[in-house]
Amino acid sequence: MPQMTEGVYFIPGQDEFIPDSHVYVIGKPSSKDLSLVDAGLMNKGAYKLKAIEALGIKLEDIKRIIMTHTHLDHIGCLSEIRGRIPHAELWIHANEAEPLEKGDEKTVYGMDMFRSMCQTQYGLKPGDFKMKVDRTLKGGEKLEIGDMNWEVMHIPGHSSGCIALYNSSSKVLIPGDVVYADSAIGRFDLHGADGAQLNDSLLKLGDLEVEILLPGHNRVVKGVKPGYIRETAKQWAPYLT
Ligand SMILES: [Zn+2]
Ligand SMILES: [Zn+2]
Repeated sequence: MPQMTEGVYFIPGQDEFIPDSHVYVIGKPSSKDLSLVDAGLMNKGAYKLKAIEALGIKLEDIKRIIMTHTHLDHIGCLSEIRGRIPHAELWIHANEAEPLEKGDEKTVYGMDMFRSMCQTQYGLKPGDFKMKVDRTLKGGEKLEIGDMNWEVMHIPGHSSGCIALYNSSSKVLIPGDVVYADSAIGRFDLHGADGAQLNDSLLKLGDLEVEILLPGHNRVVKGVKPGYIRETAKQWAPYLT
């Protein structure tokens, strides 16, 4: 089910021994003003772009890439994807854009052990994720893109610059790794993570009316039960201090 609703397309991640994030294309194709949400793990760019083209979407219509956050499983193939759509801007929350521009890759790898493991596995070098960001997001922006309205919400806790994208008319939420299906939430032990902040972020998302939940991993859900995120927040609250 690649089309979740009008103007929202789902390209599933292809997990390896590390997960590969899902990617979403948002915007009505007739607008020729589409956005890619997240990229994915190293070497998954060609697969993602091929899947997007198979939907009949023209790569030249992708005008920007919006990152929910910059963990390796989301940003790993960003350069590969940008190589094919060099005209596309890169939008990231300020808390993760500023370190990236300076070449600080602590959020990308999350922890030192993971950094050395991934650098060995994928032949990555320090500085590989140093990049210029075209627009830094703060949260609270009301984006009019692709003939749709998307609100940017800053939802830190899994990492410090996590954002969600929310479309109120179709009740679509793209929360990155903050909340998943099946009462799961993002981990909160990596660099920049904070359990109490994650709790606040879940409560904030819990106030939204959500029918279509499109997380960074695992199942996507159409027909989300009312109160699902609030329930999930309640279950996790004792651990999020
Ligand atoms: Zn993550
Ligand atoms: Zn992830």
